[in-house]
Amino acid sequence: MDEQETESGRTLSGAVYDVVGIGFGPANLALAIAIDEHNRSVEPAGQVSYVFVEKQTKFGWHKGMLIEDAQMQISFLKDLVTLRNPVSDLSFVSFLADNDRLVDFTNHQRLFPSRLEFHRYLEWASARIAGDVRYGSLVTDVRPVVEDGDVVALDVVATTEDGSGTDAVFRGRNVVVATGLTPSMPAAMSESDRIWHNGQLMDRLSSETVRSASKFMVVGAGQSAAETVECLHRRFPEAEVHSVFSRFGFSPADDSPFANGIFDPATVPVFFNAPAEIKEMLLDYHRNTNYSVVDTDLIRSLYASHYQEKVSGQRRLHLLNMSKVTAVLPGYDSVQVEVQYLPSGDVTSVDVDVLVYATGYRPADPLRVLGQAAELCKCDSENRLRTELNYRVATAANVRCGIYVQGPTEHSHGLASSLLSNVAVRAGDILSSLLAERVSSESLEAFSSHG
Ligand code: FAD
Repeated sequence: MDEQETESGRTLSGAVYDVVGIGFGPANLALAIAIDEHNRSVEPAGQVSYVFVEKQTKFGWHKGMLIEDAQMQISFLKDLVTLRNPVSDLSFVSFLADNDRLVDFTNHQRLFPSRLEFHRYLEWASARIAGDVRYGSLVTDVRPVVEDGDVVALDVVATTEDGSGTDAVFRGRNVVVATGLTPSMPAAMSESDRIWHNGQLMDRLSSETVRSASKFMVVGAGQSAAETVECLHRRFPEAEVHSVFSRFGFSPADDSPFANGIFDPATVPVFFNAPAEIKEMLLDYHRNTNYSVVDTDLIRSLYASHYQEKVSGQRRLHLLNMSKVTAVLPGYDSVQVEVQYLPSGDVTSVDVDVLVYATGYRPADPLRVLGQAAELCKCDSENRLRTELNYRVATAANVRCGIYVQGPTEHSHGLASSLLSNVAVRAGDILSSLLAERVSSESLEAFSSHG
C-alpha cells in the first residue's frame, strides 16, 4: 500500500477507506464478515472497503481466561453470522465441518461449546476475512479531516509495534469503535506479580510466584471469580484458596428461556424506544442474567469441593462470604489483606501469596479512544454517547462522516450490548446504515451538481 506524508508528518496509508474499525474482537470481526459477504454480492463500485486496527499482535479473545474446561455462556448458534445469515460459510457449524468435528459435536449434545473451542472458531473466522487487519497497532487518536468547514473524514492514528518509531494513519469515511471491555480493579490498587486482575490468569499461572504459592485469595462473586477460584483450587492441589465476596453465596445466572429473550435482536428496538425509567427498570430486573452471577453447574461443583473438604477435614477452599477487603498491604514475599466480616464488623488479617481481583470489567470509554473526534459526538447528561438505533453516534451538524460504536450502548440498546448474543445482527444493522448513508450522500452530491 502507498504511504504518503500528511500535514502532521505521519504516514497515511494511501487509501481512504469506507470503514476504519478500531479493535478487532468478535464485534468488528462480525462486521468484517458482513462486509465481505456484501462485497461478494455486488459489482466493485458497490463494494465497501475497510481496514481494522487492533492492538494485539494477533487475534485473541479474552485469552487470559481461556481456562481448559470453561464453557461459553451462549449457544453456538449465536456465533458471528448465523442470526443474520443462517447460510453463511463462516458459521460455527461450518467451522466444525471444516475441522471434521460436526458429527462429534452433535453427539456431544451441548448447546454451549467450551471457550477454548469458541476461541478456535473466532481465530478460524478471522483468518478467512478478505480485507486488511493491522495487528500490533494501538489507536491513540482520531482526528477530524475538515474541508470547507465540514468534517469529511476521520484520521485514525495508531502507534505501531513494528519498531519503525512512526505512527500509522488510516483515513476513513466512517469509523467503527469496538474496543470491548477493560478489567476493573479498585482505583488505588497497583498491580504486581502478587496482585493482579483475573484477566491475566492464564498468563500468570506459569510464573514462579504463582507456582510456589501456598495461599491464594480471590475477590469477587461473579462468573470470572468463581472460575478463578475453581481453577486455582484444581491446579494447585497443595494450596489454600480464599474466596472473598460480600454476598451470602454465589448466585446463579438466570439463563432461563423467557429471561434470555432480553438478549434477542428483536428486543433491541423495543428497549431503545422505551422511556428512560423503563430502561432502568428492565436493566435492574435482568441484571442477574449477566452481572455478579455464576453458572449453576460451576456453583454446584464448588459446593461439592467445599463439602468434600468438610468431610475429609482437609480444608483448602475457604469461602469468606458477607465479607469485604478493607486494606491491602503488599510485602516483599506476601500480601497482608484485611478482611471485614460485614455482619459483625470484625476485621481479620490474612497473609496470602497472591491476591487476585476478579472484580469485573467495564466497557472501554469510547470517548477516550475517539480523542479529538470525541468533540464531534453528542452525549447525554451522564456523558454517555447518544447513538441512533443503528449504532451511529449523533454528531454535530457539520459532520459528514459516520462514527459507530459496538459495545458501550447498554444504556440505550440494552443488556446484549457488551455481549456476543447480538454481534451478527448488529453487524448487519451497521452495514445497512453505512450503505444507506452512502446512497443518500451520493444523491445529495448528484442533486447539488445538477442544481
Ligand atoms: P473484545 O472482545 O474485548 O474486543 C475488543 C478488541 O479491541 C480487543 O481485541 C482489544 O485488544 C482491541 N482494542 C481495545 N482498545 C484498542 C485500541 N485503542 N487500539 C486498537 N485495538 C484496541 N459474552 C457472551 O455473550 N458470552 C460469553 O460466553 C462471554 N464470555 C466472556 C468471558 C470472559 C472472560 C469475558 C471477559 C467476557 C465474556 N463475554 C461473553 C463478554 C465479552 O464482552 C464478549 O464476549 C466479546 O468479547 C465482545 O466482543 P468485542 O469485540 O465487543 O470486544
